[in-house]
Amino acid sequence: RVEISDVTKSYGANTVLRDVSLTIEPGQVVALIGPSGSGKSTLLRAINHLETVDRGSITVDGRYIGYERKGDTLHELREAEILRRRTQVGLVFQNFNLFPHLTAIENIIEAPVAHKRLTRDDARALAEGLLARVGLADKADHYPRQLSGGQQQRVAIARALALSPKVLLFDEPTSALDPELVGEVLDVIRGLARDGTTLVIVTHEIGFAREVADRIVFLDHGEIVEQGTPGQVLRNARHRRTRDFLAKVL
Ligand code: ATP
Ligand code: MG
Repeated sequence: RVEISDVTKSYGANTVLRDVSLTIEPGQVVALIGPSGSGKSTLLRAINHLETVDRGSITVDGRYIGYERKGDTLHELREAEILRRRTQVGLVFQNFNLFPHLTAIENIIEAPVAHKRLTRDDARALAEGLLARVGLADKADHYPRQLSGGQQQRVAIARALALSPKVLLFDEPTSALDPELVGEVLDVIRGLARDGTTLVIVTHEIGFAREVADRIVFLDHGEIVEQGTPGQVLRNARHRRTRDFLAKVL
């Protein structure tokens, strides 16, 4: 369970998250939508402690990723401890971010060996299973440059899954792909949703959000304007700002 309470974050005079509160229950699929610059990526990065926040708190199963509480105040943890806790939250980026000098399977093995103390053999077995799950059992020894964008993104998903995160965050996972490659990545995400993986997906694919999400959250200027089931938010939005946004993207 991810609990985001009253999170506020500014870059200089620019407030990019304003009192954002959101709870994500285990197994839930949340789609985060909103205009460019509304703070979607910043919120995902804050969950992972790739960004600090100015106020408020974010916990995963009751624990902070980047802080520890001493009395009334939060202190940032040492880098090594942050890295360890960060393994509980997987993040899949728009641009795949695979290690170019490692093969598909080596990309997946790296983190569980470093952070979960798996032997290379156990990590390899795990990685083979994950490659099969994303439909790439035959591409284990290919380097990223030998794979299509859709295949690279599926390797990136397998890599994130290798740490058995409690929640998996996707930041526009298909927006860098050629249209004909979008479907294969969405299929993998659909499968994860069906299997009960807890997911937060930033997406411009409103049709996909409607289909896969239990809850849609609309962010505008750093504020959660509206959230609810896809039917509530996409068909019966209560707020004009939501309706104006949807009119542009639907
Ligand atoms: P998009 O749909 O274009 O990806 P977004 O909703 O993900 O947009 P963010 O990337 O979270 O938006 O950015 C929110 C605001 O924060 C923007 O005004 C952006 O310019 C600003 N911002 C983001 N990162 C930084 C940074 N490192 N330093 C300064 N400002 C930043
Ligand atoms: Mg973004």
